[in-house]
Amino acid sequence: MIFDEPWPENELETLGACPVCGSTERAVLLDGLHDMAFRVAPGRWTLWRCGGCTAAYLDPRPAAAFIVKAYERYYTHGGAESFRLDPPGPLDLRTRFITGIRNAWLNHRYGVKLPWALPLGWLLAGFFPDRQRRVEQLIRHLPPAKGQRRVLLDAGCGSGDFLRMAGQLGYQAMGLDFDHEAVARGKAAGLDIRQGSLPGTGLAPESIDYITISHVLEHVHDPVGTLEELFGLLKPGGCLWITQPNLSALGLKEFGPAWRGLEPPRHLTLFEPAGLMTLLDQLGFERVELHDAVPQAGFYYSQSRAQQVGADPYGPGEPAGWSPDWEAKAAAADAAAAQDSRLSEALTITAWKPV
Ligand SMILES: [Zn+2]
Repeated sequence: MIFDEPWPENELETLGACPVCGSTERAVLLDGLHDMAFRVAPGRWTLWRCGGCTAAYLDPRPAAAFIVKAYERYYTHGGAESFRLDPPGPLDLRTRFITGIRNAWLNHRYGVKLPWALPLGWLLAGFFPDRQRRVEQLIRHLPPAKGQRRVLLDAGCGSGDFLRMAGQLGYQAMGLDFDHEAVARGKAAGLDIRQGSLPGTGLAPESIDYITISHVLEHVHDPVGTLEELFGLLKPGGCLWITQPNLSALGLKEFGPAWRGLEPPRHLTLFEPAGLMTLLDQLGFERVELHDAVPQAGFYYSQSRAQQVGADPYGPGEPAGWSPDWEAKAAAADAAAAQDSRLSEALTITAWKPV
């Protein structure tokens, strides 16, 4: 297997201290980790828990100049059919109903004209609170633009699914990604996507109203520098929206080294909710909020289980090693996270720049 080969020594960097707070106080959290998800990266990896700030980090880790090798079969490369707020018809009755209520609510709230909306359907949205939470997560808790010119940046946007959605909700949406293929595909689809890295976006300070980073911060070599730069890009009163795997997830306790959220060596740093919220606070953000969890354990548990039994989590057919017992465990994890979002598989946080 690829991970039986070592990652070349001269392409590694050794930290010796936490990349978040600089503390050298630490303990091994998990050892011997390897790339179970995309199975392209050689090497075995050690994840440390910082005694200073509670973040976890890989050390040693691939140096920034060489990490691209770990992304050879990454999912933003893939051309999978993306989710759309405006699905082409025909829709079956159930989808028609769900889409009809959702789009009626979005049209009402954002003052837009998405198709399929049921007349007065927005009045029904409140009767489906779970689904409503999922819609709000899907649109990344965007505040309504209300006809004003509002600029959104999705940093690490992949092929730009969310840019299309934000544009449909009235935002001027711009994306940034370091992956050439993703940028090319997004541009071909008519989206405003630029090539860039984090930190190092090259964008003008105080030019953006809403920045989203979805499953990005865990990938960057300098998470603090990244957050500082994003803070600088926001206009006063702007908002940063973050979602990423949660170091306090029940799935990590269940699966240990096979937990899907670890994804070595692409995930370099992971946070608990409190640790990330404290950091955002220290960087000058205010109104730092951890959002309600949406059901996600179905994905994390089925993929982690496949990894646990040594299978390719992206293999065809039913997830390997899956059973009704696991289905029940995943449902229990979602139920626990609905009660306490600090336990969710992925955390979602918004943080505002003071006016
Ligand atoms: Zn630390």
